[in-house]
Amino acid sequence: MMIRVAVVGAAGRMGSTVCQAVEEAEGLELVARLDAGDEITPEALAGAGVAIDFTVPTVTEANVHALIDAGLDVVVGTTGWDEESYGRVREHLARPEAAGRSVLIAPNFALSAVLAMRFAAMAAPYFESVEVIELHHPNKVDAPSGTAVATARGIAAARAEAGLAPSPDATESDPLGTRGGVIDGVHVHAVRLRGLTAHEEVVLGNPGEQLTIRTDCFDRASFMPGVVLAVREIGSREGLTIGLENLLGL
Ligand code: NAD
Repeated sequence: MMIRVAVVGAAGRMGSTVCQAVEEAEGLELVARLDAGDEITPEALAGAGVAIDFTVPTVTEANVHALIDAGLDVVVGTTGWDEESYGRVREHLARPEAAGRSVLIAPNFALSAVLAMRFAAMAAPYFESVEVIELHHPNKVDAPSGTAVATARGIAAARAEAGLAPSPDATESDPLGTRGGVIDGVHVHAVRLRGLTAHEEVVLGNPGEQLTIRTDCFDRASFMPGVVLAVREIGSREGLTIGLENLLGL
């Protein structure tokens, strides 16, 4: 059976690549392209069963609520989500009128990045020190990346479960904030550099050894297999799912 798909943010860099991937994917049919200024109405959605949102952090949550109300399952790649906005979507999905609806929000659809996050969480209990460095193109408007936040949280959870002390750090003075941002006790550094696309390094240190886990996405094509997989799978998952790893059985 064909899955009818609407893309929201269809004129954007990710949205236009997603439109092409949906058109080329077997079993998927692109029925609607929406962008800024288009209202989310039944007419505009043209009978779509699944919507894909790649818009901007300031509008994505409102889009998701409107799409749930319109009776669609939603796959979201837009960044900027936090525990509070996840909570509001969970609450919406729990209402009787949203029964059976699913939302998947993935900070990263690239398989290499999802695996790097998983490997970092696996390695985290075995190392004294860990820091995350994310590196992106200079047009990216938010820092740190959603992937870096998710990576740091995964590492922190794994360290907490293993009962590890905080990473050692004797810094007493850092007036410029050069030690980076701290997410659940894990230092995160953001680099913005012309020529880069989307990259992340997790460095883990022990006396006398270091493990580096690195993912490099050179092209938006890297995200498409994950997006298509999510569209195919979302109908079989009720409620809110956060992270593509849940569809990969990791
Ligand atoms: P972009 O600026 O090229 O595209 C955003 C599009 O959204 C634009 O066409 C804009 O007109 C449109 N838009 C704005 N407001 C809208 C509204 N109310 N309704 C519909 N469309 C609206 O950005 P991009 O590079 O395509 O990235 C989009 C988002 O995806 C960002 O948050 C980015 O961080 C994220 N991203 C996620 C992944 C992932 O794997 N999850 C990968 C790459 C980018």
